[in-house]
Amino acid sequence: MSTDVVPAAGLVEQLYSQLEQKARALRPSDDLAQLEKAYRMALEAHKDQLRDSGEPYIVHPLNVALILADMQMDLVCLETGLLHDTVEDTRISLDQIRKEFGDEVAGCVDGVTKLSKLHLYSREERQAESVRKMLLAMVNDIRVVIVKLADRLHNMRTLKWLPHERQLRMAQETHDIYAPIAHRLGMGKIRGELEDLSFQYLEPEASAELLREMETQRPQNEEFLSKMRHEVELNLRRENIPARVEGRIKRAYSVYQKMKRQKITLDQVYDLLALRIITDSVKNCYAALGVIHNEWHPIPGRIKDFIAIPRPNLYQSLHTSVIGPGGRSFEVQIRTEEMHRLAEEGIAAHWKYKEGKKGPGAEDQRITWLRQLVEWQQEMHDPGEFMSTLKVDLYPEEVYTFTPMGKVIALPREATPIDFAYAIHSDVGNTCVGAKVNGRIVPLKYSLKNGDVVEILTQSGHLPSKDWLAIVKTSKARNKIKHVINTTERAKAIEIGQKYLEREARRLNVQLSRITKAEMEQVAAEYGCSKIEDLHAALGYGKFSARQVLQKLVPDQVGPLLPLEAPKAVPPPSAAPAGGDTGDLVIKVKGVDDLLVYRAKCCNPIRGEGIVGYVTRGKGIAVHSTNCPNVQNLMYEVERKIDVEWARATTETFPVKVMVYTDDRPGMLNQLTSVLFAEQSNIRSLEASADGKRGADGAVVDMTVEIRDKKQLERVVAAIRRISGVRDVERIQ
Ligand code: MN
Repeated sequence: MSTDVVPAAGLVEQLYSQLEQKARALRPSDDLAQLEKAYRMALEAHKDQLRDSGEPYIVHPLNVALILADMQMDLVCLETGLLHDTVEDTRISLDQIRKEFGDEVAGCVDGVTKLSKLHLYSREERQAESVRKMLLAMVNDIRVVIVKLADRLHNMRTLKWLPHERQLRMAQETHDIYAPIAHRLGMGKIRGELEDLSFQYLEPEASAELLREMETQRPQNEEFLSKMRHEVELNLRRENIPARVEGRIKRAYSVYQKMKRQKITLDQVYDLLALRIITDSVKNCYAALGVIHNEWHPIPGRIKDFIAIPRPNLYQSLHTSVIGPGGRSFEVQIRTEEMHRLAEEGIAAHWKYKEGKKGPGAEDQRITWLRQLVEWQQEMHDPGEFMSTLKVDLYPEEVYTFTPMGKVIALPREATPIDFAYAIHSDVGNTCVGAKVNGRIVPLKYSLKNGDVVEILTQSGHLPSKDWLAIVKTSKARNKIKHVINTTERAKAIEIGQKYLEREARRLNVQLSRITKAEMEQVAAEYGCSKIEDLHAALGYGKFSARQVLQKLVPDQVGPLLPLEAPKAVPPPSAAPAGGDTGDLVIKVKGVDDLLVYRAKCCNPIRGEGIVGYVTRGKGIAVHSTNCPNVQNLMYEVERKIDVEWARATTETFPVKVMVYTDDRPGMLNQLTSVLFAEQSNIRSLEASADGKRGADGAVVDMTVEIRDKKQLERVVAAIRRISGVRDVERIQ
């Protein structure tokens, strides 16, 4: 510690007594014991820390609290201001603060701490916008933002002590994030100072030049303003309009912006000088406007009625520009005391010390402001940027989550940790095996909430699961998962296809080793495959049969494919459809021939029924009955759905399993078989047994019959039902 810090101890106590005085002036009846306790705690916690200026660290939280006191904020804000850096930078825990100062202060300190951990700096406008939204969305007490703005304001005021690089970063962040937020919250005064301060660091030359020029003109400008002010006051008094009049010179940064935007010089900024008339009622605002226009000539098109139509951030005022003495133009802003307060302090005005109790009403007041905004928006028909920003609060469409390092990840509502993982990097997504949210393990389908800190657990070599497709919310995650699944399935299909071809070759005594690569490539090309690998994949997916390919390769050795042979075609090894069904020529895929088609075992559709195809991976096309319950579950991948139809009449039959419940009497089986004979349906198997469940004298016949189509099945079933003693017939699927 250098010796010049020693007198600072006196400075510290002096700052605190200033704060106490201000707090006491605001609320003489309040007990300031908690404020002093917060000060002592912060003083002790920061006692070994210095600011870059060399001052004791406590000077910073004290100044933040002083800024808040000047904004007339409540004690919760002042205590939060004093304690705002303790949890982040010292050993004090949030629990300690909660115990000593209660939930409100603890909640605010927690909020400010979370904001401090964020990496907000960004030059990209789009990112800045989402950071601003996020900031507003993640705080559930707007006082957090107000304290944060006071914190930032003091840091900007003392920016000269920081190294150049950090100056630039902080100024940029202030310009991109904090000044716009102050603007959105209607806090004109703090916004102005934040903008002017960051301007000095971001554009040092331009700002120095402009400030020099404005300084040179200042004496004459001030003289002009005071003369005008005097005259306006006289005129208003004559008309019995109670008012106070202030003069103001436009702030450097907004002058600069205007000059740049309109490509004009300082002299051409017509509203560089302005008078503010603050009166007691809306009626008198308009009356004052009349007085002004009576005295000086208004510039056409420069009269703005923000009282009737407030700005999106609720700013209200009448603006007019007039030509003053010597042809010099100036602006006049007219507003009530209430409007003035709102223009300067915005949302902060709602947290001012108010006489009376804090109660359930306090919460209402907090949201009144937001509600008012929505009402304005409905009336305005021109939802500004500000509105869409605050909508985040009211109608959240996005959630803002964080990496353990504090990086913001914006995701759609109900996004899962898998979406989060893919948002970070596709490798993180692919190898994701679990997730922790705020330190706790959660299921991968967990819906992320605003402010969640998400940590993804990965395992190298892990691959995404197909089930993830049903739970992810971002298209990025969905596309990446599909890509990986397709790639791995293609690899599998290539392997299956190759084995299938080899097996079929062995069966047909074709020696694949004698076939050259060129011959193979040529056949592949005939099938529209540019590589042999693609042909293998197509075989694996069941697009062509291996026999067809071999027939093309060695036509002398392998005969043409006979229609009756096809069902017996050997399905790809290890890819046989469940139940060992073989390819099925009685069904064909619309517009495509030669696809490996099989009837799904779950519903076993028969001719005449509505059917739909589903491209399986490596097993050809499964054909389901359209009312098969499995179909709905399978069809979430719409692109794998394929139209199929029954091929034209053949003699093919389908085995159908039927259960017949009958009276247990002789001759029943005989009657059954004769019905089937009459319908020309063969019986594959038949088994009768006593049916204990359906009465003592019941029997059940379990049979598999060969059926050509739906109509035949209907006839058979109807005929069986007509047999006397038959109680019920049931088709088993
Ligand atoms: Mn701070």
